[in-house]
Amino acid sequence: MSEIEERLNAVRQRINRAMKQSPYGEKVTLVAVTKFHPLEDMEEAIRLGVTQVGENRVQEMEMKHERLSVPVTWHLQGHLQKNKVKKAVAMADLIQSVDSLDILREIDKRAGQIGKVQDILLEFNISGEESKYGLAPKDFDEVVAQAQVCEHVRVKGLMCMAPEGAAEKELHAIFHQGRRMWEKLQTHFPVNQVSILSMGMSEDFETAIEEGATMVRIGTAIFGIRQKGEAK
Ligand SMILES: *Cc1c(COP(=O)(O)O)cnc(C)c1O
Repeated sequence: MSEIEERLNAVRQRINRAMKQSPYGEKVTLVAVTKFHPLEDMEEAIRLGVTQVGENRVQEMEMKHERLSVPVTWHLQGHLQKNKVKKAVAMADLIQSVDSLDILREIDKRAGQIGKVQDILLEFNISGEESKYGLAPKDFDEVVAQAQVCEHVRVKGLMCMAPEGAAEKELHAIFHQGRRMWEKLQTHFPVNQVSILSMGMSEDFETAIEEGATMVRIGTAIFGIRQKGEAK
């Protein structure tokens, strides 16, 4: 068994255990985060049954998107620059990192130009960390109002992150708030549209699942330590 297979099996077991322990009883979708890992690793994960892959940078996604010969669902989850939105919309099945009104409007415009309705998640900076991208929770109403008039954008849910190295108690508090905000978001859109609550990474996905996540984004625990620097 390869290292990736062993790690992936372990992650799947941990997800299943956390799902059983969670009072929310949500089904949890695994997004394998392949950023900074070679295409071969992505291909291996797909052979092992992974159907959803996540990348942070448009350029890296583009390279892999062109070379990958099997179908997979593409998630983009890194901060987007406006001049990259056109390419992002051309490739991504789900853009998880809609972190400003400006980017929201740009996605709407670019999707409109190619006749697409782009599925997105609104990324909220719940912890309020200065270093993190994300919409401010206080702007919730304004963001919802804007999203509702974007005809080429479909809000599928919410994405959030916890601070690195946060204590268990703080993790619970942040993910709990994420869940509450997601439930509120559901009330503003058609029934069943807002179905994705994306929270939890290698270090904290079990806590996120206990707090009601429906999607986890996991890189390191499957593919190992990334060689290059981080792009948040
Ligand atoms: C890199 C990244 C992940 C995966 O992080 P790991 O700790 O390697 O699991 C998940 N979500 C986002 C937004 C990321 O940037």
